Amino acid sequence: MILLSKKYIATILLTVGLTILYSCAKNTGVSAPIAEANSIAQRLVSTAVAQQPNNPKFGQPIGCTLGKDCFVMHYFDRDPSPAAVEFGCGRQTYDGHDGIDFAIPDAKAMAKGVPVIASAAGKVLRVRDGVVDRRLQNQTDKANVAGTECGNGMVIDHGAGWEAQYCHLRQNSVVVKPGMQVEKGTVLGMVGNSGKASFPHVHVTFRYQGKPVDPFVGPDAKLGCNIARNPIWDKPIDYISTGLIRAGFATKPPDQNAIWAGEFSETKLPAKSSALLFWVQSYGVLKGDREQYKLFAPNGQTIADQTSEIKAPSRTWLSYIGKRNSTNSLTPGVWRAEYRLTRGDRVLSEVKREVELR
Ligand SMILES: [Zn+2]
Repeated sequence: MILLSKKYIATILLTVGLTILYSCAKNTGVSAPIAEANSIAQRLVSTAVAQQPNNPKFGQPIGCTLGKDCFVMHYFDRDPSPAAVEFGCGRQTYDGHDGIDFAIPDAKAMAKGVPVIASAAGKVLRVRDGVVDRRLQNQTDKANVAGTECGNGMVIDHGAGWEAQYCHLRQNSVVVKPGMQVEKGTVLGMVGNSGKASFPHVHVTFRYQGKPVDPFVGPDAKLGCNIARNPIWDKPIDYISTGLIRAGFATKPPDQNAIWAGEFSETKLPAKSSALLFWVQSYGVLKGDREQYKLFAPNGQTIADQTSEIKAPSRTWLSYIGKRNSTNSLTPGVWRAEYRLTRGDRVLSEVKREVELR
């Protein structure tokens, strides 16, 4: 039996028979990444306010496939009180969030490069670059980005009273300059983690006549959720308020910081490791959601089959299960793992992964 550090022991919640399993779920409270731009000049337009806006239609501002290699992490907050609600009546937003966060899985995807693209044609008004990409973890980090909350980004005048502000781009990736005309789809830079951001994403705020607009609802809509909608998107964007961010294997309990950094993604690990853990990171989990974890040894034997209920909602959620390598029980070969997140009868995400121990 291997001696465990205190930190390790604290993560062991469960023992099944003679197999010691790790199980831990953590809400690290990824909080309020966002971007308030320094003063955004309101632009006066000559059209009468009462006139129905001639809405331009906007494209997705990120060059990736939603639900596959990127996802919407946070929606627009439609609640004027200190509480927060998004248009789908869920809680995948936070107080005062005046835009949409299009996120990518981790810093490795960020380093590879995912383009931020102009949602519509327009003229670049203001630009900033040179702000470092750093994942915010605490209040000190937040204080340090005061004045550059938007990080690297730009404001584009999309015409007819519309503006969009793009935030948190990767340092030194911005390729447009003030005064430039852009077309819909023009690459503006790369998704980053600059400014007030605790995960790699692009935050976009759309404004009509200087007022932030929820792009899933359109301008002049009632507050709250379950309301008439007139989205400004050119193509429907599915509302998916819960889903998988990433999953993988680790040889020690992972934390959110390491996960966002892109660690613990190996497909081969040493059989002599002190433990084998299968972890899953999700967004938008709710109290009462159920997680089922399964782990199978190379010979097909079920090493773990555990279901547990999530006790509190979390915008980003990390949990794992694992086996300690007591008496060299981590046999070489291909280990398989399965995960299922369910809400009532509904399966919200299903994950299957393999890792080779050798
Ligand atoms: Zn945001």
